Amino acid sequence: MNWEDNIRRAVPYTPGEQPQGKGIIKLNTNENPYPPAPGVEKLLREMDSDSLRLYPDPDARELTETLAKYYGLRPAQIFVGVGSDDVLAMAFLTFFHSGRPILFPDITYSFYDVWAGLFQIPYRECPLDGDFRLRTEDYLQENGGIIFPNPNAPTGILEPLEKVEEILRANPGVVVIVDEAYIDFGGVSCLPLLEKYDNLLVVQTFSKSRSLAGMRIGFAMGGEKLITYLKNVKFSFNSYTMNRTALALGVEAVKDDAYFKNCNARIVETRERIKKELLKLDFTFMDSRANFIFAAHKRVPGARLFAELKERGIFVRHWEKPRIADHIRITIGTEEQMDRLLEALREILASCG
Ligand code: PMP
Repeated sequence: MNWEDNIRRAVPYTPGEQPQGKGIIKLNTNENPYPPAPGVEKLLREMDSDSLRLYPDPDARELTETLAKYYGLRPAQIFVGVGSDDVLAMAFLTFFHSGRPILFPDITYSFYDVWAGLFQIPYRECPLDGDFRLRTEDYLQENGGIIFPNPNAPTGILEPLEKVEEILRANPGVVVIVDEAYIDFGGVSCLPLLEKYDNLLVVQTFSKSRSLAGMRIGFAMGGEKLITYLKNVKFSFNSYTMNRTALALGVEAVKDDAYFKNCNARIVETRERIKKELLKLDFTFMDSRANFIFAAHKRVPGARLFAELKERGIFVRHWEKPRIADHIRITIGTEEQMDRLLEALREILASCG
């Protein structure tokens, strides 16, 4: 027997590049271009060695209570983790255990099939329609659970609440996860549906709208029963997932709601301006409601745009995958960064004839 016959094999997720050099305009992983709230940076500077020496609160009580208050829920309805990737991985492990295929869109967050592979969960990808919209009828077939982001990634398309509810109404026998990583950039959250559907799990993150990607904070909201099941799996895995610094800074970030709303409004404003500019440059794209735009040029292929931008120190994201190879995904940066992007695009397009 060969030891290699006896191991768990995984095909890992490929995250966007984290360039090391200075002066790079990083528009490839949907980080927030603005710093976190001033109180967050202040608290970080005031931290002492206790936050290193001691274990964190395994129940993350303060952060859980803060989030519960903010979203009008009970603390027992909140689960926190090391970024929403951690929360989603735990949710896959906990809720998708029937042996029946889970369903998600064919064009979506490319971690879903990785977790399904890792946990040996069968899955079926439901093709989005020609305009990259979710087809609710696909989610009427028998399944072992459903997950989709709203707004979707990488398309940025926001589906209306009625569509989300239609899927929930048709699937009372499985858990439906709505990944709202990008909901704060003008989306309408499905949180109010928690009152009606005890099989709904809503997942959000501090990585985008709260400028804390480096801290790794994500959370899920759902019925108490759902959250208890999630916690049981998490506490069978690792009691101390979130570090003390992340827990404290997360609480501080939620406190400054005016700053949060103001930053998000700025990003939305920039996004809408860039949409107009991209149209002038012959790009086509769907109506993104996230902090990125998924755009294709009428003449120049996505791979070429990606490479030419990279040469000029501007990183965007490109996937060499069916249906989307012509697109690049551009994270919304500061006004200045976006002006540099537009300048570079004009230059590239001029040189492409
Ligand atoms: N869901 C979606 C749709 C995403 O695009 C991302 C970002 N890669 C995540 C979840 C995970 O983000 P994080 O782990 O930083 O919360």
